[in-house]
Amino acid sequence: MDSSAYLRSHIRTVPDWPAPGVQFRDITPLLQDPKVFRVLIDTFVHRYMDKHLRPDVVAGLDARGFIIGSVLAYELGVGFVPIRKKGKLPFTTVEETYELEYGSATVELHTDAVRPGDRVLLVDDLIATGGTMMAGKRLLEKLGAQVMEGAAIVDLPELQGSRRLREGGLALFTLVDFS
Ligand code: IMP
Repeated sequence: MDSSAYLRSHIRTVPDWPAPGVQFRDITPLLQDPKVFRVLIDTFVHRYMDKHLRPDVVAGLDARGFIIGSVLAYELGVGFVPIRKKGKLPFTTVEETYELEYGSATVELHTDAVRPGDRVLLVDDLIATGGTMMAGKRLLEKLGAQVMEGAAIVDLPELQGSRRLREGGLALFTLVDFS
């Protein structure tokens, strides 16, 4: 089994959660098994250790992006910064609001999280419509950073998020597709 199929086999699909008709892709079984967790992190480390792709900073999206992003940053020997849902960060922030299927969401980043010119790797667990990752990219760019790539475990290509992100100028690296 290749590593994509191996990782895929450890992602659980929960039907009708958090709402009827939604197939939630749950990555917790993948984190729970130390061998699979290592394959996951090593796959990202292998890519971003490359001297052309090594970031200055890893930014993780609230909340599962923190789990993968912080371990990856530690392994790469670079800093980690959290992009959080509104109201959680204590210092001065920049914020970005984006549309959800029903309503909107706001994410925040500390104003001193990155410096102008920093090359940032943006990490989350999953890309659906792409709205969350695009908001993260805009936040980092507000502070003058350059988002060199977005990384996620799962892409849901049918929702067109990864296509929109790529068209919006963000390179992406994902490990498992679910359609
Ligand atoms: P998007 O903004 O529509 O791309 O949704 C992606 C965000 O929602 C990510 O932060 C994910 O953690 C979360 N999300 C949406 N659907 C799922 C899912 O099926 N499993 C896990 N997370 C999801």
